[in-house]
Amino acid sequence: MYDLETIVKNGLCIGCGLCRSLAGSERVKMVMTSQGRERPLVTEPPEQEILEKINAVCPGIKITGPDSEDGIEMDMVWGPAAKLVIGYAADPEIRFTSATGGVLSALGIYLLESGKVDNVLHVAPNPVKPMRSGAHISRNRDDIMAGSGSHYGPSAPLTGVMELLEKGSPFAVIAKPCDIGAIRNLSKIDPRVDQLISCCLTMVCGGASEFTKSLDLIEKHGLEEEDVSYLRYRGYGNPGPTTIRTHDGRVFEHSYNEMWADEGNWRLQNRCKICPDSIGELADIAVSDVWPGGGPSGEDDGFNGILARTSSGLDLLEQAVDSGVLVITEEIDFRDMDNFQPHQVRLKQAVHDRLLGISDCELPVPKFRNLRLEELAETAEFEVRIKNRDGMAERIRNGKVIEPIPTNSKQR
Ligand SMILES: Cc1cc2nc3c(=O)[nH]c(=O)nc-3n(C[C@H](O)[C@H](O)[C@H](O)COP(=O)(O)OP(=O)(O)OC[C@H]3O[C@@H](n4cnc5c(N)ncnc54)[C@H](O)[C@@H]3O)c2cc1C
Ligand code: SF4
Ligand code: SF4
Repeated sequence: MYDLETIVKNGLCIGCGLCRSLAGSERVKMVMTSQGRERPLVTEPPEQEILEKINAVCPGIKITGPDSEDGIEMDMVWGPAAKLVIGYAADPEIRFTSATGGVLSALGIYLLESGKVDNVLHVAPNPVKPMRSGAHISRNRDDIMAGSGSHYGPSAPLTGVMELLEKGSPFAVIAKPCDIGAIRNLSKIDPRVDQLISCCLTMVCGGASEFTKSLDLIEKHGLEEEDVSYLRYRGYGNPGPTTIRTHDGRVFEHSYNEMWADEGNWRLQNRCKICPDSIGELADIAVSDVWPGGGPSGEDDGFNGILARTSSGLDLLEQAVDSGVLVITEEIDFRDMDNFQPHQVRLKQAVHDRLLGISDCELPVPKFRNLRLEELAETAEFEVRIKNRDGMAERIRNGKVIEPIPTNSKQR
């Protein structure tokens, strides 16, 4: 069993906030470290029983892939999908302002307005520190739209989970695949999860950047965090600009490709480099971009790839289409997804060997099961496999994996 400091120190924490939700804020706080990562700060060690629960649910150390469902196709790379389509939110405002085509926001609004859930847990900008994002509980369209867009930095969505489970009314979760993995882990030790969480929606995820990515961006304009009233990475078009606004009325914009064309500059957290399920196999519906080759060649009207992964995800998709909430343009297949997401295919092939690199250095190796990782590694070229294993070991030896434990004094 690991304590929280061990999980963080070994670069396994992704800052989901579930340990904080389980232990309570009097024992564990989520803080922004000076390296720009949101991490649990233990102010009073959790009791043994709570620590056991954290070990059972923490997505940094444990992810178990989905069981196969009858009639749902399982792809070696992409996992389960009952249906793969391209589509977008029928409401033009949702489509335009959201990250891609507005499918996640439109589904969140549909779930609330049709009475299927009372709340949607997702993330939104922090009202006091608008460059940062945090857990956000939505009850209506305006709430959902306040959180639309891709929050590429730290966000800790699951700090709100236990509060919602205690309320006892049905809710949905929109969050990153690792967050959904944590929810599925929680469902194995808390029966309320399956009773109350009606559906889990996610995005295909290229990784969460450190907050320093956003800070470097504003520094280029001579700004400090206190100067910024608004930062949005995309939306208002697809992909739309990255927009910074200041309290004194200045506006700065950068194109998507300026921000993300160089993968080496994404400032990804270590957990993302060994992510066993960045494609959202554990969600009911996973949603993506659909740019051939993995990047935009210009602006378009906003189109999402939609993977209905479970039978309940398929029901929701069909109901949303029948109700006029979503528009479907075409059916696609798993090989189309390879074309839209080549970096996801490479990551899926890399994780097993990167874990071997961690084991070579005798650091704790997370338990990632039932995700075909070993078989996928065997589909990569020999040289690539060696590079993945040795590259991870080298990162560890060069001090790029071990993280300082958060302290009360060193925070942003
Ligand atoms: C960190 C990150 C990496 C991504 N990488 C890829 C990629 O490699 N390939 C790809 O195709 N797409 C990627 N996306 C997804 C893409 O940017 C869109 O989010 C996706 O297509 C959904 O578009 P949408 O218009 O339906 O979203 P919207 O309707 O704008 O809704 C987005 C929803 O996701 C929630 N959300 C956003 N960011 C976070 C976060 N950090 N944590 C928890 N919840 C969040 C919001 O609160 C909102 O409810 C990534 C998104 C994120 C956040
Ligand atoms: S990944 Fe989540 S549950 Fe695990 S230590 Fe980090 S914040 Fe806590
Ligand atoms: S790449 Fe994986 S670990 Fe990183 S944010 Fe995305 S889902 Fe989470």
